[in-house]
Amino acid sequence: GIVKREVVELLTPGTAINSNFLNNNENNFLSSIYIKHENIGFAIIDNSTAELLCGETNINNLKDIVKQYKIKELLVCESQENLVKKYINFDLLITTYEDWKADKINSYDKLLKQFHTKSLKGYGLENHDLAIIAASACINYVELNSFGKTKHINSISKIDSSEYMHIDSFTIKNLEIFESLNNNQDATLINVIDKTQTASGSRLLKKNLLKPLKNLKKINCRLDSISELIKNNNEFNMVYEALEQVSDIERIVVKIANNKSNPRDIINLSTSLKVINLIKNIIKPSMKNFCKKINESNDLSKIINIISKTIKEEPSVNILKGGYILEGYSKELDELRDISKKANDWLVAYQENERSKHNIPSLKINFNKVFGYYIDVTKTHIEKVPDYYIRKQTLVNNERYFTNELKDYEDKILTAGDQIIEIENKIFKKLLEEILFYGKEIQENSKILSEIDVYVSNAYIAIENNYTKPILNESSNYILKKSRHPVVERLLPFGEEFIENDLNLDYKKNQIGIITGPNMAGKSTYLRQIALISLLAQSGSYVPAEKCEIGIIDKLFTRVGASDNLAGGESTFLVEMNETANILNNATNKSLVILDEIGRGTSTFDGISLAWAITEYLHNNKKCKPRTLFATHYHELISLADSLDSCFNLNIEVQEYKNEVIFLRKIQPGGASKSYGIHVAKLAGIPNEVISRANHILRNFYDNKTAFNDLYKEQLPLFNDEENISNEKANDLLN
Ligand code: ADP
Repeated sequence: GIVKREVVELLTPGTAINSNFLNNNENNFLSSIYIKHENIGFAIIDNSTAELLCGETNINNLKDIVKQYKIKELLVCESQENLVKKYINFDLLITTYEDWKADKINSYDKLLKQFHTKSLKGYGLENHDLAIIAASACINYVELNSFGKTKHINSISKIDSSEYMHIDSFTIKNLEIFESLNNNQDATLINVIDKTQTASGSRLLKKNLLKPLKNLKKINCRLDSISELIKNNNEFNMVYEALEQVSDIERIVVKIANNKSNPRDIINLSTSLKVINLIKNIIKPSMKNFCKKINESNDLSKIINIISKTIKEEPSVNILKGGYILEGYSKELDELRDISKKANDWLVAYQENERSKHNIPSLKINFNKVFGYYIDVTKTHIEKVPDYYIRKQTLVNNERYFTNELKDYEDKILTAGDQIIEIENKIFKKLLEEILFYGKEIQENSKILSEIDVYVSNAYIAIENNYTKPILNESSNYILKKSRHPVVERLLPFGEEFIENDLNLDYKKNQIGIITGPNMAGKSTYLRQIALISLLAQSGSYVPAEKCEIGIIDKLFTRVGASDNLAGGESTFLVEMNETANILNNATNKSLVILDEIGRGTSTFDGISLAWAITEYLHNNKKCKPRTLFATHYHELISLADSLDSCFNLNIEVQEYKNEVIFLRKIQPGGASKSYGIHVAKLAGIPNEVISRANHILRNFYDNKTAFNDLYKEQLPLFNDEENISNEKANDLLN
């Protein structure tokens, strides 16, 4: 017949649901934004998992949202496209929609209809017009692309940024949480700590890391769940095993809503849903947090039963082949199958009978789509063929026939076969509707399983890598004993031991630690480890330390490494200053600021002066006294500790042995005595000639024993034009 042709789906990067376009362990987000003055409403949707989030924020945070959620496509109304492009100066697909659709009344109604509610109060969205417009635009766009299939989008969550520790996209990038700066995926935090067994668990773990909590109760609830697993080893092992059976429920529900699921998906769904009951039976009453979590789950035994009464245990993935509905489900289906089976038996017998009756052992009954059933006889036996065989086709070596009797059976078999598939598909469709009716409850149970998976993964890592439960409170402390960098400790060459270090910060007496020490001593590692541990702790995970106490951090700022934005038309120094300005303008008394070198990209005097003034500002400004660690190669800053009450010096121990430097990696109080720059240059393979000349120049500097400023001025004539050493280089050597 004529093949039906129509466009059934539009594929875009932000709305894809086909697993060929998706990474199992990652979300695939589309975002929509609506701008009003300096504020935006934003919505973020993963059409493949049916998650929809929304919120309102300052437009300056747009870039962070896009980077953090790895937005694949940005939806904006036509008149706002150019404005958006001012904030997004990197490659991103921007899709526009008509302005009239960005209307607050229509958008509000759209959400009510989508979630079958009378108001948006339950979602905390009432009067958040900007967020509502953005969310409605997301749903409209998905609806347009999937030709109306949006049933799976059954809930919306508001992102209230005041609930989470603020981390900007620089920090996520520089701390190498999800991606490494040099494309070594082993060197990311997520690679070290993700031992989740389900795809949705892995996605949740990533979201938790992006949104560390500030609420003590919520953090402790996560931490206590992990402790319960660690304390109850048997139960932990059993829950771990049970989770192996969980498939990607979120994405199966979306496939169902989009008519893309197959019988095997449904069996996987039911197996996964059963795991909640399994876990319920495993855990002990003393595992209070676990019991509470499991008790939040919906009873879906009805759906599990329907599935187990309808679909065979190991069905095919192809619904067109049929055969996946269980016997006993439909009388009509069973009868047809019986006819079909009997006809098949009859065919086998008929073939046997014809073979012996006419003495043609190679006679076969075959089937093809064009001719239906036929009797195949090789040319050698052609004389034995009886009169009632009617010739149908002649091939080089064979003749094909049919008989009236065979035709009768063919009708029976084919009609039954078609009817079987039709009935099976009808039953399947009805089953899908029933499942979809519980879509929301199923997604909720999936979320609980994902949370459990994250706890189990955390407990696994805590045991395996020897992590500890952090203590969080409302103090202003950040205290660590024997802490380690979670990633560097795993990647050290065989035989090399990670040296554990302590930290003692509080915003009253020990507010700013200035860390000096040579390059390669381990300053960056130490700084990053402190930032990472705070992030792990507040996302509710155990941490790599013997002891960890953190007074809740509201914002984590890091300025580590030069993140060039040359493509965006900014110099390294400008990027550095942008990032620093952001810190100085937004840090609070509860923030943690990690600075790894400031002022490198400019002349030494500018650099020192800026670093000096920035430290003073962080120390003296009453509104902004964040706990701060500042690694610097400007030794002059060591004297800041004398004039600023709550500023103190730290250095990383090194030893000189026979003209070589040995890095001991141990943080200790006090400023570094010298910077060993020339030693490190030697390690890096700078020619001996240059090294000895540099040593000579350095000795000359020291021999003069003048103050820094005088030294700088006085020693300049030391370089003649021939040596061609610039003032800046001289200073680098000095430092
Ligand atoms: P810096 O910032 O002072 O130049 P890094 O932090 O980059 O130094 O450290 C240099 C190297 O030293 C790291 O790549 C790591 O392999 C090693 N390292 C750093 N800290 C430690 C430590 N605490 N224990 C063992 N090795 C370390």
